[in-house]
Amino acid sequence: MACDCDLLVIGSGPAGLTAAVYARRRGLGVTVLEGGTEGGYLANAPNVENYPGFKAVSGLELAGRMLEQAKAAGAEVARCEVSKIEKAEGGGFAAVGMDGSRFTGKTLLLATGAEHRKLGAKSEAEYAGKGVSYCATCDAPLFAGKPVAVIGGGSAAFATALMLVDLKCRVFLIHRSKDFRAENALVEKAKAKGVELVVDTVVTEIKGDRFVNSVAVTNVLTKQAREIPVNGVFIAVGIKPMSELAAALGVETDAAGFVKVDLKTCATSVPGVFAAGDVTGWFKQIVAATAQGALAATSAADYLKNKPQA
Ligand SMILES: Cc1cc2nc3c(=O)[nH]c(=O)nc-3n(C[C@H](O)[C@H](O)[C@H](O)COP(=O)(O)OP(=O)(O)OC[C@H]3O[C@@H](n4cnc5c(N)ncnc54)[C@H](O)[C@@H]3O)c2cc1C
Repeated sequence: MACDCDLLVIGSGPAGLTAAVYARRRGLGVTVLEGGTEGGYLANAPNVENYPGFKAVSGLELAGRMLEQAKAAGAEVARCEVSKIEKAEGGGFAAVGMDGSRFTGKTLLLATGAEHRKLGAKSEAEYAGKGVSYCATCDAPLFAGKPVAVIGGGSAAFATALMLVDLKCRVFLIHRSKDFRAENALVEKAKAKGVELVVDTVVTEIKGDRFVNSVAVTNVLTKQAREIPVNGVFIAVGIKPMSELAAALGVETDAAGFVKVDLKTCATSVPGVFAAGDVTGWFKQIVAATAQGALAATSAADYLKNKPQA
């Protein structure tokens, strides 16, 4: 049976939409399936200041522009929360939606992104974008010179703390135990640079008025509670790739669940399947997602051109 399109893209974030533009420019028929917010995680970014061409732009506007460009290039964008991907009869891949809808493509791009793990503290969601951040690379400069808390005990948390110290912030690194998963070198560097380690401590609530002004914490050993005045709270307690669909298709993932790709082509371990953006775990920024989307689409076009005819 003939496939609906040449490239079937799962996810309409920066990776998926850039792939759609590049694939259309190579003459491929493209369908992009989106089960959540059109434009992806990007649509949640309050203020993007590191995407070339824009001094500052809201994530919603940037995502809207990417979507418009992909549609103008001729890509179909359909609402579909994909529950399963399987090999299609006669070649290619089929995506099956929660509602039973079915889309097929000769090649497949997984651009499903990743989710930042939430802390679970009271008012965390309320202050997201108003002092609470999950992305230091994106938001650290907004807090230069201010007191901030970094939550977590891994390398990402320490790298965040060091970035903030370099921006002249007073940094409290809050961790639920005194054992850190971070590399020792990072821990030592953080101590040497004056990061204040608040160990055996959990954050129970994020407080403020319009914006964050403190975190309420409790020492898990003494049960003593107190507040630490801060303007920013950087939560670095892990990232979960949206890679279940990939794994079920037999695509190789790493120990953390990120889809393994060849960095020059974005090809996965399954021929005809490509992956791009945060789901690959590479840099987790808009520029990186768009770059990988462009590469993946180009590789899909080359794959179809060079594939022996059945
Ligand atoms: C608050 C915030 C601020 C940020 N600020 C910046 C910044 O300033 N600068 C910067 O460079 N980066 C920033 N980022 C990071 C940036 O948004 C991501 O790196 C980027 O969006 C990744 O793009 P992506 O296309 O890989 O994935 P995503 O944007 O996550 O898109 C993936 C899409 O796939 C869809 N999807 C997943 N599973 C399915 C399924 N089963 N069926 C159908 N659809 C599915 C999702 O709904 C989602 O729309 C920020 C992120 C957040 C959350």
